Amino acid sequence: MLRIPCPFCGPRDHAEFTYLGDATVTYPPIDSTDQRAWYEAVYLRDNPRGPHKELWQHVNGCRMWLAVERDTMTHEIKSATAAHPGTRAALAAETAR
Ligand SMILES: [Zn+2]
Repeated sequence: MLRIPCPFCGPRDHAEFTYLGDATVTYPPIDSTDQRAWYEAVYLRDNPRGPHKELWQHVNGCRMWLAVERDTMTHEIKSATAAHPGTRAALAAETAR
């Protein structure tokens, strides 16, 4: 059973989450007219074997977007944190108290 350690709710079954995609994709600037760059950012994905950074949303929990590092071979989850840098910094400050 795959359990994702939500930093806000604790470990939860993966059925509570929705996979949102590859967390390593970078998009061109919003005003870019480079069609090739947009095509690659929107449609092309790698299919990595091993460690991979992914976005998941805890839809049946706190609804936060998480950045999860998961091994695609073993499904071992090495880390899970808030996806948004501002939320991640606030979470780190909260846990440091
Ligand atoms: Zn949660």
